[in-house]
Formats: sequence, structure tokens, C-alpha cells
Amino acid sequence: MDIPPLMKDGYAGEPSKRVLNYMQGHKQKGDPIVGIYCGYAPIELIQALGLVPAVLCAFSRVPIAAAETVLPANLCPLIKSSYGFIIEGTCPFYAMSQAVIAETTCDGKKKMFELIAEIKPTHVMDLPQMPDQQEAQRHWKQMILELQGFLEKSFDRHADSGQIEAALQASNRKNVLVQKIFDYAALTPSVLHWKEMYDVCFLALPSTYEEMRPILEDLLQKLERRVQEGAYVAPAVAPRVLVTGCPIGGDATKIFNVIEAVGGVVVAPDSCTGLKPFMNLFAENTGDPVGALAARYLKLPCACMTPNDGRLSHLTALIERFKPDVVIDFVLQACHGYNVESYKVGKHVQENHGMPFMKVETDYSDGDTEQLKTRIEALFERIR
Ligand code: SF4
Ligand code: SF4
Repeated sequence: MDIPPLMKDGYAGEPSKRVLNYMQGHKQKGDPIVGIYCGYAPIELIQALGLVPAVLCAFSRVPIAAAETVLPANLCPLIKSSYGFIIEGTCPFYAMSQAVIAETTCDGKKKMFELIAEIKPTHVMDLPQMPDQQEAQRHWKQMILELQGFLEKSFDRHADSGQIEAALQASNRKNVLVQKIFDYAALTPSVLHWKEMYDVCFLALPSTYEEMRPILEDLLQKLERRVQEGAYVAPAVAPRVLVTGCPIGGDATKIFNVIEAVGGVVVAPDSCTGLKPFMNLFAENTGDPVGALAARYLKLPCACMTPNDGRLSHLTALIERFKPDVVIDFVLQACHGYNVESYKVGKHVQENHGMPFMKVETDYSDGDTEQLKTRIEALFERIR
């Protein structure tokens, strides 16, 4: 990028210094921090209680060797990295967290949570995995109420339904503004780089609307200026790429770097580290804010759900909005849910959208970088 950085100090890197500063600021004010591991964690409930959520999923290859002294080597690198940071004592976000909120998503994470529970107070939420069933919503609402009980007891705080309603409405306002930022990546050519989107996503997720509003409004003005000046992040001819699949951060962002190295531009990073958490709004003023949280969170189309048809309609909406030329499905090794689901995703993309599709199965090492370059170059050839 040879255009002025969007944020004052440019791309913050990974783990984001910006998010760490944010957490440290809250810690200094005495606000309790709770660790979360998943897009299903009801952030608005945490915020209504005056607590601060810290994302603990990790994306570095560095602590994996330590993790493999306890965990099997053929496990998803995200789980190994997250656990490795814990046993090495090198994750500042985990160190700051006074409790951990976990969900029964994939088997590997579930079993890791049992190990974490031996070290730190951990509350596991039983996530229903057939989201289309009526019972699922009732059950998830009950799980959110039980989480509320755990947090209230652990931190001696209370939130009434008015405060939870206020938190979900504030989250809606925040997500609408974040969505407006994404609109600049949807332009052709795009004026928003994936690193900038990531900076916004990583900071916006734990932050409140009040904290994010001035930052997002300033960014929107700068992006508008880029449009007026024609300051694009890639040439108009660059193949536009939607990357879906497993969460991507740190060492896994090699996929984005490879796409750029061979002339493409990432316009839609669709995962729990990208667009996904900001997509659906909460129903407001229903008289049942916890029910509204449950309904919205169960719409998150994770591959741990079955059937996960919501992911296909979600992809269609993204394709129509961000106008990619190709779709890449990013699957972490040993992530069976996303790996098996890739077949359906590829079929949907190719048959319903007539678009080239490629599955990439990889880990956090950089040993396959050259091979990825060759494969993605060949993918781009199909649209030239
Ligand atoms: S991909 Fe699924 S399990 Fe992983 S963070 Fe997202 S919702 Fe949770
Ligand atoms: S990437 Fe897959 S295997 Fe890894 S934690 Fe997420 S859902 Fe589980």
C-alpha cells in the first residue's frame, strides 16, 4: 500500500497492539476482563455487566511445539496455538482474563476447554448444533441465562433486561458503522485493504459502540477521501477474492499475502476473524433481549452446525455485495467440519454463481507458500 494509512499508526500487526492497548486501558481502570474463544460468545451480555471480552484464539506457530507436549500433533493449529500460549504463559490476553467463556463447538476445542478449566475459572456453554430446530433457540437462551448467572456470581455484578437491551442496541449501531466501512472494500476497485479491515474487526469486536463511534466515523471520512482521490488499494484488473472458511490471523494470514503476491486483492475476508461477527443485527425492543441475543447468535453459520445452509445464503449475500471473481475456502488442517463442508461450499459457488473455487488446506507453517502461489496463480488464470 503506498497510500496514507487509515489508522494513525498504520497496520497494528498481530497480535494487534491496538487491541492489547485497549485491554490494558480497561485493566488499569479496574474493569474485569473475560476471555472468549468463539463467535458464539454473547459479547453484549458481557458488556451489559461492565466486563470486557478478550479474544483468546491464537494464530501463531510459535507456541505449537509446546502445545504438542500435551495435545496430539494432528489437531487444528488454532487449538494448538491457543493452548500453547497458555501453557507457555505468553498470551497477555489470557493473563489478563479472570475467567474464560467457552462453547461446545468442535471436539478439539471442547477437550481443550477441559484442560483450561484446570487452570482458570471456565464456563462452558452447551451450544445446540441443529440451529433450525425450535428447541435450539430455547436451549441457547437458557445457556445465555446460565452464563449471566456465572458472570454475576463471579464478578458480583448484575444486569437487568433494560441494560441487556441497551447493550444489544448499541452493538447494532456499532455493527451498522462497521458494515459501512466494509462497503469501501466492496467498491470496484476497492479502497480498503484487508489489513485495515482486520484492524477494524479486531478492535471493534471487544469494544463498545461509544468507544468505536469516533474511530469509525473518522475512518469513514478518510475512506470517502480515498474514493474522491482514486486512492485504490489494488489496480482495477486485480482479481477480487472472497476468502471463506476457518478463522485467519497471524501466521495464517499467509493466504492473504500469497493472494496479493500473485496480483489479487482480498475484498471479503469472511470468517469469525473478519466479516462474520458483524453481519446480522439483533431484533430490538422484543421485550426479551436474551431471546434476541440467542436468535441472532444462532444465525452465525459455523461449520460445527448441521445442516449449515445459512453459510450458503450468507456466501451468496457476500458474493452479490463484494463482487469477487473467485472464492477461496481456507481450511485449517484437522478441522473436519470446515473440511467436509468445503464440498458443499464449492458446489454452491460454482453451480449457483458460476465462479472459480479453490479449497486450501493448510496450517500455520510457511512450507507451502510457493505451492499456494502456483495454485492461486492457476486459479486467477481461469478468469483472465
Ligand atoms: S469458526 Fe465456529 S468454532 Fe470457530 S470461532 Fe467461529 S463460530 Fe466459533
Ligand atoms: S478451525 Fe475448526 S477445528 Fe479449529 S477450532 Fe475452529 S472449528 Fe475447531
